[in-house]
Amino acid sequence: MGDVVNLLDHDLDGLSAYCEGLGEKRFRATQLFRWIHQKGAKDFASMTDLAKSLREKLAGRAEIRGLPVLTEQVSSDGTTKWLFDVGGGNAVETVFIPEDDRGTLCVSSQAGCAVGCRFCSTGHQGFSRNLSTGEILAQLWFAEHRLRERLQLPAGERAITNVVMMGMGEPLQNYSALIPALRVMLDDHGYGLSRRRVTVSTSGVVPMMDRLREDCPVALAVSLHAPTDALRDELVPLNRKYPLDELMAACKRYLQAAPRDFITFEYCMLEGVNDTEEHAQALLTLVHGRGEHRVPCKLNLIPFNPFPASGLQRSSRERVLRFAKVLQDAGLVTTIRKTRGDDIDAACGQLAGEVQDRTRVGERMKRLPVPIVPLGVK
Ligand code: SF4
Repeated sequence: MGDVVNLLDHDLDGLSAYCEGLGEKRFRATQLFRWIHQKGAKDFASMTDLAKSLREKLAGRAEIRGLPVLTEQVSSDGTTKWLFDVGGGNAVETVFIPEDDRGTLCVSSQAGCAVGCRFCSTGHQGFSRNLSTGEILAQLWFAEHRLRERLQLPAGERAITNVVMMGMGEPLQNYSALIPALRVMLDDHGYGLSRRRVTVSTSGVVPMMDRLREDCPVALAVSLHAPTDALRDELVPLNRKYPLDELMAACKRYLQAAPRDFITFEYCMLEGVNDTEEHAQALLTLVHGRGEHRVPCKLNLIPFNPFPASGLQRSSRERVLRFAKVLQDAGLVTTIRKTRGDDIDAACGQLAGEVQDRTRVGERMKRLPVPIVPLGVK
């Protein structure tokens, strides 16, 4: 017998093809899919209305392979962080953020990240490997069913209403694993989340933004963090490959597939680096003023969560408010992200997991000075 197949690696089409290979019809695959994702079944014996013949075929050939949980931490505000073991000395983090009207799960797509953004503790850890579809989905599968149990939700009520691919990793650099995972999130037989409640966050991998638009146009967030190429080159090194003009044009193309949507631009506020009123004006010029590249968008300002290796500081509250006012006065919808789960290091940019760096990105980043780039430099 060959390798044991992890059924979490498949979207519904993939699972149907697998079941067909076992001589089973598609509706059987749908039943199986619902048992796994809607009911959180861990083994075939518990799938009581699934034909016994299929359960017997699956036993020994396939499994529902979750990830070992290393730790579970619950913050005083209810934010929950799990550390999952993905083997080889690597661990990834997943965070649940409860709010009055929603429950958001922040999911990781890679062990580490090769992009190396200056303000991101994942970036400082370097990169080990991509997660599989099954490893991405295992985070949601586990969290949903764990939370239902912990919160004692009535049958049929979901704990997780939104997913953001904003944990460790650049999801668009793990595209082939990402797409089936997104399809399971959207599938009515899976998690049944609407397209607008699943967000992919990217640092700006332009060709993959175009592919995502064609394959699965979910909500898109772009890590912007700087209004000029000179500064963004320093903060988000991927900018050297895909500079702002190309990025803005890709954002605009993206919205052609989802015309009633908008792009969320993430902007991490770094004291003395990107947080002056002049930076805010330059940001307005970028998103509003570059002629044909005007992009329907919202701005999300993120107070930086300092960590020692970054050498960077969080902007003061006054500076953040002043920055936000410039944008709001110009009619740009601007929010300031509330810091959640601070006491368990679960806030944005603090997810570090454990990464066996294969790229030495982390090493190189330790030696970088604080980027001070005059605004006149484009
Ligand atoms: S912000 Fe995102 S893309 Fe940048 S290093 Fe961190 S995880 Fe990677």
